[in-house]
Amino acid sequence: MSLIIGSHVSFKSDTQLLGSVKEALSYGSNTFMFYTGAPQNTRRGMIKDEVTIEAYKLMKENDMKLENVICHAPYIVNLCNDEKFEFSVDFLKREMERCEQLGITKVVLHPGASVGLERNHAISNIIKGLNMILGNNYNVTICLETMAGKGTEVGKTFEELAYIIEHINDKSRIGVCLDTCHINDAGYDIENFDKVLDEFDKVIGLDYLKCVHVNDSKNEKGAHKDRHENIGYGCIGFDKLLKVIYHEKLESIPKILETPYIDKEYPPYKQEIEMIKFKKFNDNLFNDVIDYYR
Ligand code: FE
Ligand code: FE
Ligand code: ZN
Repeated sequence: MSLIIGSHVSFKSDTQLLGSVKEALSYGSNTFMFYTGAPQNTRRGMIKDEVTIEAYKLMKENDMKLENVICHAPYIVNLCNDEKFEFSVDFLKREMERCEQLGITKVVLHPGASVGLERNHAISNIIKGLNMILGNNYNVTICLETMAGKGTEVGKTFEELAYIIEHINDKSRIGVCLDTCHINDAGYDIENFDKVLDEFDKVIGLDYLKCVHVNDSKNEKGAHKDRHENIGYGCIGFDKLLKVIYHEKLESIPKILETPYIDKEYPPYKQEIEMIKFKKFNDNLFNDVIDYYR
């Protein structure tokens, strides 16, 4: 079966999408995910079309499909928050505009965190915000990410995401991104992934699934922590993650690694993607990564 796999890569203000494609290719990826700027802030530059065209060329030469590339909205937008609401809506509108200009069709978004607000109020803010953001004609789908349930995060159950989707006016441009670390931490049993997928299908509908984030977790099922671990080095483990990656129902869906850098410095993606392609666990991953970059 064919495998659509990549990782989080950088998107720099000068090299933009071209730099992202080059980085993804260096890992042996056939797709990737990027933030249009630093994930922690919302400063964003202009998209340069001449660079985008170069990126398209390189993608075509390497059989990378634009429809499989994912953008991730920054963490700090929070549609729940009353004070940040207008800012968040405005930022996401512009983010969709940037994606449209880049030809990217999927943006992953953390639904938000209710913090001091009453949960129902926070969720109705998310719905209101999403309907405002989707009031354009861009060919961009917002993919709500399944969350670990750390703190007051919204989206830790499939039911919560289904409730939001139910209230979106334009359902053709709303989807879900399933994160293996997050669902593990939220309490879903990846050991029985078929059952998890059945539940997803029953509650949300598999048609809404547009992206999978493949991460191991530093914590046990149900810990509500959200700390990613390298593939096969955490509480989920290599075999269970492989089952997710190679699940026949997920064949057409891009799989994106967001595992931690080794020593905070060296991206592990080339070596992790090799493990996945060969379906063979590398028990010397950390040293191999460090050796490769030194
Ligand atoms: Fe995320
Ligand atoms: Fe994720
Ligand atoms: Zn996470």
